[in-house]
Amino acid sequence: MPSNLTLVDHPLVQHKLSLMRDRQTPTGMFRQLMREVGLLLGYEATRDLSLGESEIETPLERARLPILAGKKLCLVSILRAGNGLLDGLLELMPSARVGHIGLYRDPATLAAIEYYAKLPDDLPERDVILIDPMLATGNSAVAAIARLTELHARSIKFVCLVAAPEGVAHIASTYPDIPILAAALDRCLNEHGYILPGLGDAGDRLFGTK
Ligand code: URA
Repeated sequence: MPSNLTLVDHPLVQHKLSLMRDRQTPTGMFRQLMREVGLLLGYEATRDLSLGESEIETPLERARLPILAGKKLCLVSILRAGNGLLDGLLELMPSARVGHIGLYRDPATLAAIEYYAKLPDDLPERDVILIDPMLATGNSAVAAIARLTELHARSIKFVCLVAAPEGVAHIASTYPDIPILAAALDRCLNEHGYILPGLGDAGDRLFGTK
């Protein structure tokens, strides 16, 4: 397995992902599953947050207890499918800042074209979790990472549901220090840039647009 990739093999994640892959799964259920898996991936993505201690009074006594060391996070969703994972991550981290980057794939070249970006001003003080459910060619992910790097984000981690080997290799060759967290590493891309076996177009399945 590529060294920049961590797979989340938790049975709940794997089960929910298989249900999402099923072409018969309706939009509402797909969206709910994406939210749940987003939360579970967020749990793994935040495993390295540092803890400090705080004096807390329990009903029985005062104790010094672990509390997050005030690390500033920013969730950045690649539009539009990233928003499906965003909901679950926000449930876990309700006070995280949120940025959006809009990219579409040129159908002929599969190149990522940015059409929208709205990000917090203080990215140099924030650790970014960049989210997009499908890491296919890696063009969108690399374009979003380039934008975040240009804005001096303190750190960047990429979180997706399904990764293709091509996308993982693309990120690794361009940004070898960026860790990738995924629920599955699938076989390959087809000639249209879709992941096999994959789950189809995540945006369409999430929003019922096809
Ligand atoms: N984007 C998707 O939504 N699905 C794929 O399989 C590849 C890119």
